[in-house]
Amino acid sequence: MAGAVMEEPNVRMKAPLIEVRNLTKVYGEGPSAVKALRGVSLSISCGEFVAIMGPSGSGKSTFMHLLGCLDRPTSGSYRLAGEEVSGLTGDQLAAVRSRQIGFVFQSFNLLSRTSALENVELPMLYAGVGREMRDKRAREILEEVGLGARLDHRPNELSGGQQQRVAIARALANEAPLLMADEPTGNLDSASSVEIMTLFRHLNRDSGITVVLVTHATDIAAWSKRIVTFRDGTITDDRPVHGVLPDSGHELASRQSSHNGSSEEVHS
Ligand code: ADP
Repeated sequence: MAGAVMEEPNVRMKAPLIEVRNLTKVYGEGPSAVKALRGVSLSISCGEFVAIMGPSGSGKSTFMHLLGCLDRPTSGSYRLAGEEVSGLTGDQLAAVRSRQIGFVFQSFNLLSRTSALENVELPMLYAGVGREMRDKRAREILEEVGLGARLDHRPNELSGGQQQRVAIARALANEAPLLMADEPTGNLDSASSVEIMTLFRHLNRDSGITVVLVTHATDIAAWSKRIVTFRDGTITDDRPVHGVLPDSGHELASRQSSHNGSSEEVHS
């Protein structure tokens, strides 16, 4: 029975979650038009952990906006979980986002006067989940990200790393299979960066969540399993990350502390 075969974990891991073909994005028109993406093709399977790198202006943000269903391509195809989304309307894209994607941003984007618990409940409130279920699930996820003892704390009562954990918990609230993160450690010190990358790795390995993140820092990208590099609106490199040991976080911490706490940057 085909349905039974799909339930095999190793089969599910190989199913493509993201399939992009000849994607282009042009901003503006006429002589001032900017070709931000010039025909990008990429497949990402369920369960992958991918870092997107590249110099400033290479098209990373544009590509992440398209993958995140926050914008539409000028041409090309994008299938997310088997559904062609490149031609959907704004409302349809919003529905796809709430089903399929959790977002994590550099600046956390939490509601400042609202507790960790309520911040995590918010996407479920929008999705129409009842109060009891919202409360139960938000507590469970905050427990999972190590904040079970901080449920009632507001963002300004939490460290940067803890705020990012709340943001990750919020991104997990709707049980979306895809977690997208834009420079998630950009505002964090090295110890907190290690905590956050350890959490992404745990979610990827143990919960099977597909993670796609943009970063400038090679040490952060080294936590992923695959690095895709952009330059001038195209993919110039796509390779697995080899030799990343489970304790690579400790290496990162010690190397970064010897750099006065700043992460290693790739400059354009
Ligand atoms: P990156 O994230 O790698 O820095 P971007 O995707 O932001 O790259 O930008 C790719 C190119 O598209 C750049 O030349 C940038 O100036 C241009 N660009 C990005 N967004 C817009 C926009 N809204 N309008 C016009 N040009 C844009």
